[in-house]
Amino acid sequence: MAHPKTERTLVLIKPDGIQRSLIGEIIGRYERAGLKLVGLKMCVPTKEHIEKHYTLDPAWRQVTGEKTIKGYESKGLTPPSRDPIEITARILAGLKKYLSCGPVVALALQGAHSVAIVRKITGGTEPLTSDVGTIRGDFVLDSYQMSDTDGRAVRNLVHASGSVKEAEAELAHWFTKEELMNYRLIGEQILYDVNLDGLLE
Ligand code: GDP
Ligand code: MG
Repeated sequence: MAHPKTERTLVLIKPDGIQRSLIGEIIGRYERAGLKLVGLKMCVPTKEHIEKHYTLDPAWRQVTGEKTIKGYESKGLTPPSRDPIEITARILAGLKKYLSCGPVVALALQGAHSVAIVRKITGGTEPLTSDVGTIRGDFVLDSYQMSDTDGRAVRNLVHASGSVKEAEAELAHWFTKEELMNYRLIGEQILYDVNLDGLLE
């Protein structure tokens, strides 16, 4: 089995993150946790590229639709449709518009439990309820209510892969093999080395 320190994940800094001048702040938050940047690029994605990104998992439409309907019901609200696929079609249309409206920054991050650590630092999907101390909780104020009323995607600054399987598929979607670096960071010794007995002079 591969060592946990080789786990990789994908982060996208969405167009609002770029426009808010938060690129450095966002990358810094992941870096300071000990994660290693192994891929980095800026691009304006096409709508097709975004649709593919969200539908790499064939179950995404159904699962996200069901989750969204439950979200409405838990707040005592009536969902715009009872059909999960119809709900996700609206969400996907909004996401395609949002994520192709300007440059995004794609990051590949590596480190032990990088998928889970990045999700923790990123915070929950809806900024209104994301924890303070997370990127989505600290830097933005959007809500499903406001984005649904205005007929647009929720502006939550970043995307982060939700599982190791999702990360593998998403990294291959955004980066070629050659664009992902294999290198050692000297600082990784203090995170991972079994013996720290070479410290004292
Ligand atoms: P993430 O992994 O935290 O970004 O969240 P998901 O993978 O569950 O959802 C992907 C995107 O779909 C989110 O960034 C939102 O734009 C949108 N989305 C997910 N759930 C909902 C919801 O309940 N309501 C609305 N309006 N959008 C949602
Ligand atoms: Mg997701």
